[in-house]
Amino acid sequence: MVKVLDKIIEFLFPPACPLCGTPVSIHGELCADCWIGINWIEDPKCVKCGYPFPTDLDLGGTPMCPTCASGKCELDWIRSACVYDSASRTAMLAFKHAGHVQYANFMSRAMIWALRDVDMDIDVVMPVPLANRRLFKRGYNQATLLARPIAKVVGVKMDLDSVRRIHRPDMGHKNARERAVNIHGVFQVVHPDRIRGKRILLIDDVMTTGATFSELHRVLMSAGALAVYGVTFCRVVRTV
Ligand SMILES: [Zn+2]
Ligand SMILES: [Zn+2]
Repeated sequence: MVKVLDKIIEFLFPPACPLCGTPVSIHGELCADCWIGINWIEDPKCVKCGYPFPTDLDLGGTPMCPTCASGKCELDWIRSACVYDSASRTAMLAFKHAGHVQYANFMSRAMIWALRDVDMDIDVVMPVPLANRRLFKRGYNQATLLARPIAKVVGVKMDLDSVRRIHRPDMGHKNARERAVNIHGVFQVVHPDRIRGKRILLIDDVMTTGATFSELHRVLMSAGALAVYGVTFCRVVRTV
């Protein structure tokens, strides 16, 4: 039944690249040219937070960025598939705000690939919660759409309701300190029994300053989590 419906949809709406409209074979996949146009994060990168270094830099086997070297990254590790730039931004904004949920296909695949070099000791996958007000307005949590295929590949369950988020106005254009202040206290663990003793992989579409992950790490660890990791589709890369 689902297969027939897929065929009908494909006939009515032939799959096209989300960024340029070129015909592709599967819905939600990028064409080869656009795929190449995305700034995918490769080695060398920070072993802890995945911060990408210039390719000509030889930093040895375990390169670490200044933030992680000074112990300021609380999560055990973070990975991102690509750098936040005009190409990834186009795909991400359409996915997040214009209802192009099919983009979750290539985004989550890229995120799974970004996890290739980490220790996958994970008990549960948790999309960064959205405040109810925003969820009703958008109709979906973009992080949940990205998390579902990842949970399937990792072979663990998703946790969608152990942590609640209260609504606070947007954090756009705020600096790192302001974002950290703004996010402080927005997450509340409502089922600590499901968090205790768990190694949790957080999923989000974009990492800007890392304030969201840090705050979730704080509340999850105080609820008894064993470890907290994070993966995003893209991340803002500033020169460090
Ligand atoms: Zn394209
Ligand atoms: Zn780092």
